[in-house]
Amino acid sequence: MNSSLEGLCMEIKKYETIIIHRHVNPDPDALGSQGGLATLLMESFPEKRILKAGGVPEDLQFLGQMDRISEKDYENALVIITDTGNEPRIDGEADWMKKASKWIKFDHHPNEDHYADLEFVDTNASSSCEVIYEFYAANKSELTLTKKAAYLLYAGLVGDTGRFLFNNTTPRTLEIASHLISFEFDFTELNRHFIEKKEKVARMSGYVEQNFTINEAGVAYIIIDQDLLDQFQVTRDETSSMVGLMGNVEGVKAWGFFIERGDEKGAYRCRLRSKQAPIVDIARRHDGGGHPMASGANAADLKEVHQIIDEMTQLVNQQEVSGQHE
Ligand code: AMP
Repeated sequence: MNSSLEGLCMEIKKYETIIIHRHVNPDPDALGSQGGLATLLMESFPEKRILKAGGVPEDLQFLGQMDRISEKDYENALVIITDTGNEPRIDGEADWMKKASKWIKFDHHPNEDHYADLEFVDTNASSSCEVIYEFYAANKSELTLTKKAAYLLYAGLVGDTGRFLFNNTTPRTLEIASHLISFEFDFTELNRHFIEKKEKVARMSGYVEQNFTINEAGVAYIIIDQDLLDQFQVTRDETSSMVGLMGNVEGVKAWGFFIERGDEKGAYRCRLRSKQAPIVDIARRHDGGGHPMASGANAADLKEVHQIIDEMTQLVNQQEVSGQHE
């Protein structure tokens, strides 16, 4: 059950050391909510030690660096986890984290894993950055929002709403964005980080657009193996900007971006997206989860990849039939 945002602020104030985590394979919302909250707390409570845990992909370094953290830092510390629906997805040393006095979760993913002692989860929020902004808004008399925190929170809003184009964008999202840009950071420079790509990424994006498959149901997919990554000299993280490409194609209703895992040859990370039919249950059946229309899963081999594509096809076809009967 959600704690009040005011109560969470009172709880946070009790701790000298606060270590903020977020999910593995971080995206701008993960890093923006982690960094935005860290900055908010650092600038409001300069006497506290606020640390950020986890690794950052090379292409998102503009959203800040992480701290060096030791096991000892967790003693008597408060751990806050942002943007992470389930515990196994937390980026950090699980054994060390257990040594902390308390865990608080701030998130916007479906809340099935109540792994923290206290939580505030709003699945109607566009992003975890929106949730962190609401935490600030509820505690304005205690917290100081600065240009740096505003920049980081805005980055998460832009990231998770696809630059305010996805249907998770609400009037409140735009209200918050409006307040954040009033801090006069250079948001066109920030947007450039989202738009600009390296030449090799542009060329591989071209490959994806040329070579994806689309079936009669309107399910599109592409399977990227290690050899292809080597051919374009592109890292797994660098393929993130390609996931949405198939969704821009007329007639595509749902799509899957399947990329061979680096840690397990022949196994695939599955990035599933949909425009209307919620695909998250398919992701859950294949060791994954996420949002209704944007989910992630794991396939042990190519056979399971094709099984996922079949399940997506069936789902889209079913929706089509039920839509016709409405
Ligand atoms: P991605 O395709 O990695 O951008 O993930 C889309 C959404 O699904 C994000 O909200 C992720 O946090 C979530 N997600 C990705 N992979 C998994 C997984 N294996 N288990 C649970 N959620 C996931």
